[in-house]
Amino acid sequence: MVVVGGGECGARAALAMRAAGWTGPVTLVGEEAMAPYERPPLSKAALIGDAPSPATICDETALRDAGISFLAGVPVTHVDRDAHEIGLADGRRLGYERLLLATGAAPRRLPLPGADGVRYLRTHADALALRERLRPGARVGVVGGGFIGLELAASAVARGCTVTVVEVAPRLMGRVVPVEVAAVLADRHTRAGVDVRCGVGLAGLEPTGLDLDTGETVPCDVVVAGIGAVPETALAEKAGLAVDDGLRVDARLATSDPDVFAAGDCCSFPHPLYDDRRIRLESWRNAQDQGTAAARSMLGADEPFAAVPWMWSDQYELTLQIAGLPDAAVTEVVRRRPDGVEIRFGLGEDGRLLAASAVGEGNAVARDVRVAELLVGRRATPAPAALADPAVPLKSLLRGAGCTA
Ligand SMILES: Cc1cc2nc3c(=O)[nH]c(=O)nc-3n(C[C@H](O)[C@H](O)[C@H](O)COP(=O)(O)OP(=O)(O)OC[C@H]3O[C@@H](n4cnc5c(N)ncnc54)[C@H](O)[C@@H]3O)c2cc1C
Repeated sequence: MVVVGGGECGARAALAMRAAGWTGPVTLVGEEAMAPYERPPLSKAALIGDAPSPATICDETALRDAGISFLAGVPVTHVDRDAHEIGLADGRRLGYERLLLATGAAPRRLPLPGADGVRYLRTHADALALRERLRPGARVGVVGGGFIGLELAASAVARGCTVTVVEVAPRLMGRVVPVEVAAVLADRHTRAGVDVRCGVGLAGLEPTGLDLDTGETVPCDVVVAGIGAVPETALAEKAGLAVDDGLRVDARLATSDPDVFAAGDCCSFPHPLYDDRRIRLESWRNAQDQGTAAARSMLGADEPFAAVPWMWSDQYELTLQIAGLPDAAVTEVVRRRPDGVEIRFGLGEDGRLLAASAVGEGNAVARDVRVAELLVGRRATPAPAALADPAVPLKSLLRGAGCTA
């Protein structure tokens, strides 16, 4: 069993093989020269806190103790599917019976002249380099008002920087978040002093600032872009595997080659809860869940991957949580809790609950979104009136009360 990519997904997959009882050899190969670590803190604690050491998922001792051979700091350069071998940049070749590609994604680069000095955030090294530049008083231009850009903006504010966020879409976090939820976060950023510019594009980049398409120049000491991520599919493409917004896998996370699997940010997969719509998720929980599921499939399990998508984002004292796919919904029901928190439920044409999202302080939304996630996973069709009524405990809908089906 060979796993390429020592990130969240690859590390979890290697460990899951042992948990599933596999006693044969497991090798984990990663191009980063360090033990697998968590990425979510990179835009949060690693920028704000005092101790920017990586949050390790499992250190080399834990991997060794699990009998996992870990090759760090060595990129895999090719996959020879006929020979069932991978080639490493140092010239070594490794045979495999089953191979998992968990190569993640890379930040999308700004396609503009003058973008050389722009910072991106994906690795621990990126976070350290950025942290150095987020000095009190620094003028920070954030290109992109999505999750990474907004978390970065909040962290830069915490470090005493002056922040401008430039987002070309008419609102923040456009793709995945209901408009009202995005508005809560936009308001919080504005109250923190961030200059949030939506519906504004970049005309160019200067060493000293951002040229906006309005003709204005925003002076910046640091420019950082969070404009999405591109799945790492180069190895797969070279090996002739099918790629379709990420490595194309089936319900068991197998690629077009039955001995090669893919999971995490790098793959697109059919989701049974959403009519087998093909999706690609960039989320921590998905990387974990798919790593575990892929490991089981590689060992012969025949279980479709059906975990409910879930993600979170921390900005200031607020946490946003999303379960399911809000953009799959056709109607929305809002539960307005007495504490002011709104839980927004997305329903399909058939009344099925497809998504829930909410933002609140600390853990305020965790329990409700968790229950919603269970309801989504059970294909529940709760009565909209019950969903909306804060006097009806959401948990009661799990027992069928308030469900029309
Ligand atoms: C700054 C930041 C903040 C985030 N915050 C959140 C959050 O708050 N909530 C949330 O849900 N998600 C968050 N995420 C997303 C989450 O971290 C990712 O979805 C998750 O890390 C994906 O795991 P992965 O293993 O698929 O990919 P990665 O973690 O990217 O790991 C892939 C690994 O493969 C290696 N690799 C690639 N190609 C090769 C090769 N040819 N040979 C060898 N190794 C290779 C890469 O170097 C990398 O180490 C955040 C991501 C970032 C970058």
